[in-house]
Amino acid sequence: MSDPAQWFGFKPVQSEDKEHLVKDVFSSVAESYDTMNDAMSFGIHRLWKRRLIRDIGPRANKDYLDVAGGTGDIAFKILEATEQKANVTVCDINPEMLKVGQNRAFDRGLYNLENLNWVEGNAETLPFDDNIFDVYTISFGLRNVTHINNALAEAYRVLKPGGRFYCLEFSKMKVPGIRKLYDLYSFNVIPRLGQQIANDRESYQYLVESIRQFPSQKQLELRLRQVGFKRVTHSNLSGGISAIHKAVKI
Ligand code: SAM
Repeated sequence: MSDPAQWFGFKPVQSEDKEHLVKDVFSSVAESYDTMNDAMSFGIHRLWKRRLIRDIGPRANKDYLDVAGGTGDIAFKILEATEQKANVTVCDINPEMLKVGQNRAFDRGLYNLENLNWVEGNAETLPFDDNIFDVYTISFGLRNVTHINNALAEAYRVLKPGGRFYCLEFSKMKVPGIRKLYDLYSFNVIPRLGQQIANDRESYQYLVESIRQFPSQKQLELRLRQVGFKRVTHSNLSGGISAIHKAVKI
């Protein structure tokens, strides 16, 4: 179930190298990750994440897994929506991103919450038993995973029957008139912002390139069906700059 070729942005790389290259990106940007998200998206990523939470409709006492959860945005929103009564596990391959997330949890008074867990782990080989989560989320994470199909199969495995999968990810812009402007902004402004804010142009060059390499809305739907998911749908956000894919394990 592996992808035929691996890409690190526009560079073809060996499978075994991609994971390390991606790890280096997020180790490098971890401290400035949240500031940079606001700067390059003009805060719009917050609206997209809010929409994701609205679609999920989090409920108390349910079990949520946020994979590639990084600095905790989705976890915090699920907890907020349930008055801290949901069980939330954040899983990420990068300890530096998790550390920033844990510090943010501390600042929010959530650090000692028993129902919020931080776990280091790879989306492709999740360190969890089968059939244990009600909802699996992955927000701006799937694009960074080496073998996307393995991560989708793992999502399917850890979800309970009836469990729901949600992926928020950059996708294919559907408004042709704006596409050129979007490309111009992505390739010219974002790497420069990365240089100024994170002192790291290359990581943000990777970001914009990896967005272009990610499967289209329809291709991702197909991959979700291939690993067994049913009721697969997507909603475009901001003309397809991002999309939320939803699927159910029956
Ligand atoms: N989900 C957060 C958000 O929406 O702000 C963080 C997204 S950040 C762009 C991507 C995250 O994916 C990073 O924290 C990175 O460490 C994580 N990541 C990359 N490859 C991964 C993998 N194979 N398994 C788990 N996490 C991974």
